[in-house]
Amino acid sequence: MGTDVAPRRASTALERYGVVIGMEVHCQLKTASKMFCGCSTAYDGAPPNSHTCPVCLGLPGALPVINRRAVELVLAAGAAMGARTPDHTRWDRKNYFYPDLPKGYQISQYDLPLAAAGALTIDTSDGPFTIGITRAHLEEDTAKLVHAAGNGGERVSLVDFNRSGVPLMEIVTEPDLRTAEQARRYAEELQLLLRTIGASEADMDRGQMRVEANVSLRPHGTEAFGTKVEVKNMNSFRAVERAIAFEIERQAAILDAGGVLAQETRGWSDERGETYRMRSKETSDDYRYFPEPDLPPLRVDAAWLAGIQAGLPELPAARRARYREDLELSAYDAAVLVSNADASRLFEATRAADRSLDAKAVANWVTGEYLRLQNAGGAGERADVAPAELAALIRLVADGAISRANAKEVLEAHVTTGEAVASIVAARGFRQISDAGALASVVDEVIAANPAAVADVRAGKPQAIGFLVGQVMKRTRGQANAAIVQAALRDRLEGRGAGEAG
Ligand code: ADP
Ligand code: MG
Ligand code: ZN
Repeated sequence: MGTDVAPRRASTALERYGVVIGMEVHCQLKTASKMFCGCSTAYDGAPPNSHTCPVCLGLPGALPVINRRAVELVLAAGAAMGARTPDHTRWDRKNYFYPDLPKGYQISQYDLPLAAAGALTIDTSDGPFTIGITRAHLEEDTAKLVHAAGNGGERVSLVDFNRSGVPLMEIVTEPDLRTAEQARRYAEELQLLLRTIGASEADMDRGQMRVEANVSLRPHGTEAFGTKVEVKNMNSFRAVERAIAFEIERQAAILDAGGVLAQETRGWSDERGETYRMRSKETSDDYRYFPEPDLPPLRVDAAWLAGIQAGLPELPAARRARYREDLELSAYDAAVLVSNADASRLFEATRAADRSLDAKAVANWVTGEYLRLQNAGGAGERADVAPAELAALIRLVADGAISRANAKEVLEAHVTTGEAVASIVAARGFRQISDAGALASVVDEVIAANPAAVADVRAGKPQAIGFLVGQVMKRTRGQANAAIVQAALRDRLEGRGAGEAG
């Protein structure tokens, strides 16, 4: 398929069809032990099959015991999304055969999930958008198949049971989403929420969060949903958006050609940039659900649920709103701060260290210099900034004691050496020169040495002023007050001083 047909198809899809998307997300819960046994969930890097017992190996006669913490985490996620929890729920067996499921069934929840009828609001390029959450329920993860080469080079499939029985929460949305961007933003916001409440590390790379999208099209003006296709194996947020965009085009092309869509499960290939057929979709009848006989029904005590609700931290949406409304930060700064846990923590702690600091100034330092240093540090390396030191630095700049340029250098030195801001400033002899008289001779030197830039300023080119300010900063080791230098330069080159200078 030539890429040249894509643009025509894109417009066809959006002109003729409405898009309907519903999301299903599985995430591994952050518990110390597995869902129904005492095996540790910390198997990352451990030898295969070293975190197993008769329960998670599915041996006959082994009996499950419910992990209370896992239930609490689903209740917390439900509460964070404003969902309802029934006072009685139960466990159900979902029966199917696959080599990664030794019992031949998965313990799950069918018609009485721990949480139902919630909502999650996301920010998109078109503004806020609320997505209905149908349900969140608890189940157990499967083992992992490893496809490898055997001793004779033949292809073999090995089973690693370390993952078998890890608590898994499935969160299902209403078919409320309409664009691939909304789907990506939903996945991002859900990850942030799960991390904020400590329910899951939700790392997509490590399979802790697995996102599936159900996509269908219907002709504009019709109510009935079209045939849906389930897309899985999207291993990044970008993949979620790309896969859905591809699937919309693929379905539109089939419908345009008078074809019929198959209800099926498709995988996403990031390399090829396309979805591919995996299997026809099972219906719930195929699973022969029935109540799990080895576990009692689950009663959720109202006081227990209330305690979980009361223990929730400030949620991302509330924090963004507080940053915008109470602290008057821009929507962009609020979103950046809240989406990065380290940045958010540093922002809060720096403000706590000095309540008199301007919140916008603190936000600028954190979203600007701090995140720049953090990104420059490379994967795994964290830029360590002591909140009290950042507060001291911002205070020095606010008081005009050191220039912004010098302050950036100080922060970088603090990150590298851990040294206190005051001693770095003292050792480097930084002090801002704000006295116009003291700066006049440097300004004169720079004007004399840069006739071309001076001509540009006189010709009305605004960038040239910035260049000359930079030259003054260079000659003063960054200590000049840039605003005063700029004013002096304008004065000499554009304003009242023009006669003398020319
Ligand atoms: P299944 O039993 O096939 O998993 P569900 O009814 O549980 O189907 O729905 C799974 C997901 O698919 C939900 O997120 C739901 O909102 C979404 N969904 C249902 N019907 C459609 C449709 N026609 N198009 C897009 N998404 C849909
Ligand atoms: Mg489903
Ligand atoms: Zn076990």
